Amino acid sequence: MTQPPADAQARRAIPPVICYPTETLPQLDLPLYRAALSGAEVTDTTLAPPRDACSFSVPAGHFFRISSVDGPQVGDLNLWNAHDLTERFYSGKTRALHGTHVTTGDRLWSSFPTLRPLATVVEDSLDWYGIDAFGGSVHDVIGTRCDPYTGNLLSGTQYHHCCHSNLTRALAEARDLPLHEAERHVHDVLNVFMCTGFTRDTGQYFMKASPVRPGDHLTFFAEIDLLGALSACPGGDCSSEHSSDAAACYPLKVEVLTPAAGALGDWQSPQVNGYDRTHGTD
Ligand SMILES: [Zn+2]
Repeated sequence: MTQPPADAQARRAIPPVICYPTETLPQLDLPLYRAALSGAEVTDTTLAPPRDACSFSVPAGHFFRISSVDGPQVGDLNLWNAHDLTERFYSGKTRALHGTHVTTGDRLWSSFPTLRPLATVVEDSLDWYGIDAFGGSVHDVIGTRCDPYTGNLLSGTQYHHCCHSNLTRALAEARDLPLHEAERHVHDVLNVFMCTGFTRDTGQYFMKASPVRPGDHLTFFAEIDLLGALSACPGGDCSSEHSSDAAACYPLKVEVLTPAAGALGDWQSPQVNGYDRTHGTD
């Protein structure tokens, strides 16, 4: 271990600076979204079976709601532009902008070069949870998704119902793509209902039993036409292990809600990012 310098404590005592203050982000009209949601009707319902995934489509200006049914269950969510699968949810940038976990008023941002909101969280029945004494919170953008490659790396297994594989099969079926082509579009997820954090002493990613109960839900406003896929994680409530069939698993419900005509006024989908993409070549 390196000997600390004489001013080690002083260096540690420097207060942090928020990397990306969000005050200048495009403004969000949450009251408008909430008013539109209050008059919206469920027009489509899909179920992600336990240890499997479903896909769903949400037109721009509609809502989608993920609900716990039957028992505590976490879900791994992927989102794509319905017309261009290369524009997809960017969990790392969403984390940099909004923090490690998302809740009402936070947005799910898309990949470069579009970098625009794909969806906005308008309702979160677990918003009361906050940050617990372990540093844990709900709906994280820090985990990636459980996958068979890491399982193989760590324990030599061939497990086929990790969220990565579930999402791959769901996308392949939704878009009639060969499995290996669909897999290239699967990306880091929003961990819906999952309770996670980093240990204070070692900085390791941890999970703990999700506080979600049947009836809990997370509702989004679709900012553009979306294709979504949701996996009911083989970890169940993620209280013990994932990447196996050991945990109790339950389905997750996805509902699409259509607002009343005119409820959104002159709202329009966000434009793609304004950077000119010349990257210093001019
Ligand atoms: Zn999973």
